Amino acid sequence: MARARDPIADLRRIAFLLERANEATYRVRAFRSAAKALAGLPAAELTERAGNGTLTELAGVGDVTARCVAESLAGEEPVYLRRLVATEGSDLDAEATALRAALLGDCHTHSDWSDGGSPIEEMALAAVELGHEYLVLTDHSPRLTVARGLTAERLRRQLDHVAQVNAALPEGFRILTGIEVDILADGSLDQDDDLLARLDVVVGSVHSGLKDERSKMTRRMLKAVANPHLDILGHVTGRMVSSRPVGVTGPGDRGHRARTRAESDFDADAVFAACAEHDTAVEINSRPERQDPPKRLIRRALEAGCRFAINTDAHAPGQLDWQRFGCERAALCGVPADRVINTWSAEQLVAWTHNRT
Ligand SMILES: [Zn+2]
Ligand SMILES: [Zn+2]
Repeated sequence: MARARDPIADLRRIAFLLERANEATYRVRAFRSAAKALAGLPAAELTERAGNGTLTELAGVGDVTARCVAESLAGEEPVYLRRLVATEGSDLDAEATALRAALLGDCHTHSDWSDGGSPIEEMALAAVELGHEYLVLTDHSPRLTVARGLTAERLRRQLDHVAQVNAALPEGFRILTGIEVDILADGSLDQDDDLLARLDVVVGSVHSGLKDERSKMTRRMLKAVANPHLDILGHVTGRMVSSRPVGVTGPGDRGHRARTRAESDFDADAVFAACAEHDTAVEINSRPERQDPPKRLIRRALEAGCRFAINTDAHAPGQLDWQRFGCERAALCGVPADRVINTWSAEQLVAWTHNRT
């Protein structure tokens, strides 16, 4: 008989590939829940239940997941996994591939502490598997209540938790602390200054009043960009280009389809000039429904002399692989690797952010 594979690893791999393919949340959840339910089971019981067909008696395990487990234990690659691998997405061209290969980490990600679907540990393990050296955890700030934004107190607790998780992660990889802080109506940032100063990386984004009048939005963004705590300006225009499911899982799952949304109106040349002046990086957000900024604005930011961060804004582990989409757009616009801050090591990145505050 063939040697058994690791059925939990196979289930997690399937979940990852489904997330990466932007499949519906409930499908992903079936595999993640089964992996979680089975992870606590003694190996002997797992084998026995797979043998006598009683895996489905366990909460969280259905027919499809049970079949995958049985196949894994028999030493076969589960059919479900094989099909997913066989039908995977398109290849990148050489320039985008080179840019992706130069990235050592991701500076914008969410966990189930705010509106992500997975625990910090799961996100970190997926980042390790992708070959990253670091992952910046950037859960939301207090005013974004729909996304369970973290109060100052919860953020402090998260910092302690991240320190513990880091101690258990493989050497050569670490989670950097961070936040996706709301840029408020007056351009100030939605978190205490002492906390913003303590975090490794601060991404700032506009999530409200996206239809602000041009001069107001420009003032708002200029003030945020000039704030020394702000390292990266997130999804610059706020646009939503597709109505596909967003694939967000977990307690904050809004369960809706993302609506399309127009770009917010602001003086892009003034904002990019300020980014260059204050050395604030412009995010290239890789989410398929955002693709923000649009290519014409990436080109203008490049001409203005801005740095960039190619981020996934992942809300689930499989979405961490969406960086490829951002790289594709960056490469098309001619963004060189030396303008991209996440080609730096964790040490270089943190030295840069702390130097700025
Ligand atoms: Zn955001
Ligand atoms: Zn985000």
